[in-house]
Amino acid sequence: KEPTLGNPQNTIAVLQKHQFTFQKKFGQNFLIDTHVLDKIIRSAEISRDDMVLEIGPGIGTMTQYLACAAGKVIAVEIDRALIPILEDTLEGYDNVRVINGDILKIDLPKLVEEENGGRPIKVVANLPYYITTPIIMGLFEGDVPLKSITVMVQKEVADRMQAAPGSKDYGALSLAVQYYAKPYIAANVPQNCFMPRPRIGSAVIRLERYETPPVEVKDEKLLFSIIRASFNQRRKTLANGLKNSAELDFAKEEIEAAIEKLGKGASVRGETLTLEEFAELSNRLCRE
Ligand code: SAM
Repeated sequence: KEPTLGNPQNTIAVLQKHQFTFQKKFGQNFLIDTHVLDKIIRSAEISRDDMVLEIGPGIGTMTQYLACAAGKVIAVEIDRALIPILEDTLEGYDNVRVINGDILKIDLPKLVEEENGGRPIKVVANLPYYITTPIIMGLFEGDVPLKSITVMVQKEVADRMQAAPGSKDYGALSLAVQYYAKPYIAANVPQNCFMPRPRIGSAVIRLERYETPPVEVKDEKLLFSIIRASFNQRRKTLANGLKNSAELDFAKEEIEAAIEKLGKGASVRGETLTLEEFAELSNRLCRE
């Protein structure tokens, strides 16, 4: 079935038919541009073998496109008012299941087990921006079998996810994402592609999940505590960041010795370290 949504006229018609009112608190900005929708579907590289999880289908615009490309689509929408609309706009799309729920509360490993026999899925979404980071980190950290995540996010967040050491956007989010996946910004998307128009620019980012992380660490929790501590105090040296962290409990001497071994000097700053160097530091500090 060919998609019917993805332009302003049909979107307005659906909204009026169901007398839908936008809820700011749910981050509702619906896509009204077919080129952007095509671009997202192409970037996600979906085939009939894939099960796709869509987070926040809204009125079902992207869901229609996903249903045409994938084997199966599971769409999780929190706003109860959208459920009857989705029943209407997705009528005849037999490979779609809509779930009314909060993506942050659903047991996704269980859902993937039931719906896809535990085989890895692809996540595709125009995300609600107020919970971008918890959604993405929840997917990576929560043992969800996953091939890739292709999502619309704030441009600034996409830049942070893809940033390399030394860039102004580089930080804890860059390292957390790059530990789990290879990021690639597929497109920048202007405000006029959405209804209502958001105040900020957006971008489509594709995160391709690594089968095994690119670095070997003895203690993942410690690695992430060290990363957070290093970026908590941006203008401080790495040594001071680690010494002042409430999460870490190392002696001044231990920290200084581990940093010394990186060979970048005692006053090195966290924002210049690569993921490999953070892993090395974390493995040196790890007490087994
Ligand atoms: N996919 C639609 C589109 O592109 O036109 C809508 C995207 S809109 C940016 C985000 C959607 O996520 C909204 O429909 C919103 O109601 C939904 N949403 C917000 N918070 C959610 C949550 N915690 N769980 C599931 N859906 C959520």
